[in-house]
Amino acid sequence: MISTRPALRRPIAVLGFVALSAALPACALAEPVKTVTPVSLADVQIDGGMWAKRLEISRTVTIPACFKHCEETGRIDNFAVATGLKEGKFQGAHYNDSDVYKVVQGAVYINKVHPDPKLERYVDGILAKIAAAQQPDGYLDTFFTGKSKNDRFKNISPGPRHELYCMGHLIEMSVEHYKMTGKRTMLDVAIKLADHIDSVFGPGKRDAVPHHQELESALIKLYRATEQPRYLELAQFFVDRRGHFDDRPTVTFYGQDHLPVRSQSEIVGHAVRGMYHCANIALLYTETGDPELLAAARRLWQSTTQRKLYVTGAVGAVGRGESFGNDYQLPNGTAYAETCAGIGLVYFAHEMWKISPEAQYIDVLERALYNEVLGGVAITGDAFFYNNKLLSNGEGWGSLRQGWFRCACCPSNVCRFMPAVPGYLYGHLGDDLYINTFMSATATVKMDRRIVTVKQRTQYPWDGAVKIAVDPAETAEFTIHVRIPGWARNQPSPGDLYRFARQTLGPPVRLRVNGEDVAIELKRGVRRHQAQMDRRRRNRPGPADARSPCAGSR
Ligand SMILES: [Zn+2]
Repeated sequence: MISTRPALRRPIAVLGFVALSAALPACALAEPVKTVTPVSLADVQIDGGMWAKRLEISRTVTIPACFKHCEETGRIDNFAVATGLKEGKFQGAHYNDSDVYKVVQGAVYINKVHPDPKLERYVDGILAKIAAAQQPDGYLDTFFTGKSKNDRFKNISPGPRHELYCMGHLIEMSVEHYKMTGKRTMLDVAIKLADHIDSVFGPGKRDAVPHHQELESALIKLYRATEQPRYLELAQFFVDRRGHFDDRPTVTFYGQDHLPVRSQSEIVGHAVRGMYHCANIALLYTETGDPELLAAARRLWQSTTQRKLYVTGAVGAVGRGESFGNDYQLPNGTAYAETCAGIGLVYFAHEMWKISPEAQYIDVLERALYNEVLGGVAITGDAFFYNNKLLSNGEGWGSLRQGWFRCACCPSNVCRFMPAVPGYLYGHLGDDLYINTFMSATATVKMDRRIVTVKQRTQYPWDGAVKIAVDPAETAEFTIHVRIPGWARNQPSPGDLYRFARQTLGPPVRLRVNGEDVAIELKRGVRRHQAQMDRRRRNRPGPADARSPCAGSR
């Protein structure tokens, strides 16, 4: 049931309801598309319920624990060593810089909504070490600093050296630091680094694609922060060169380098790479308006969510190569389902929702968020799953959560992701307000012509009742779109991959405005392909037994 607070100070608007047609935004080539603008995490205060506890654990336990692990494993010292401030050698694996960037990014978010001078000083100290490690030409990767310059960018495509991946995380963290603090210190580091990358790669220069996607989206975010088109052009180069490997070594299907992006229809290869890849395509579409990119993103969305999605919202069925399997290959006991891949699916879903605010995208986002991502971290906040089996006898690698990993991508990604969760609640398109998912929170939504305070009170996901109070700064008429979750409409996931074992749910969804029932007008409802359901059913996993966004139980 959804109802508004009985006594609003001012009349609220016309109510509309989410949904879902495949209407393609009209756009021209090389022009940005008007998309839904998410409400920044800085403007949403989670102030009750399960999420307030989870975010507090993230602030007080997860991020401090991961900083400690970064210190103990030499990840932070690597920057001081690269600078010459500390004696020693590089420690650990060649991708370790990225973990520091991700944990710092989470700390920057936390400090924005919960200012802590001690944490700010600590983070500033790390940032100073990172900035000092930048070479005069802009290069920054501590694994290669001190080695011959000939070693730089030597094994981009055939060897997983992760230089461009690490640099992508540095650029993204720096842009977010600038947005959250207004300080240019790290943004300037990112610009210098991006300019260096741009001097090496691009049309008429070196032809390569990052072995692990991340840099592409970071460059687009840098473009948005600086309005310098060269960063968008470089991002487009890296996205578009995938699948064109006649004159360079290929990353193969493992890195989605098997076909040109515009020809891709099936999600394959390494699952984290794959989800970042899809998010990059959608993100690039929003800046270019290229309909071929949108068509590719939609085909890959269908492949991911209608044929390769676990009931928990996890993706990546196969341990070998940490990769996607074939259509409907979704084993429980040997599921790989890396936490980072679940986070990547959230990114992909969110980018698709911004383009076309359909409930199906948030349905998948929510399923992955509650089951895959939250399951990836212990309730105590200091232990993590790397892979997330759906069936386990408690034995074997990945059956128990661990405090840290040599390859610590998942814990550091959880650090980056969890404080950003408030940014997934709301959005606006012009003066239309979108309410996506449900948490006790107070938000200030700055729409095109008005500011609206939105307050939610709910025990979601334990209880489906949600109270939403909408308080515009001035009396106004505008549209509010409230998502009616698919799980409340007998639609556990997009398409027909899953169905409920029992088709009757509890009471139907009710909407009350100022205490009075109103008719629900579903717009863009998920289209169901009943005719195809029976034909495909024999190859797919059993029906979901979910009655809430929490589909799994671990
Ligand atoms: Zn991971």
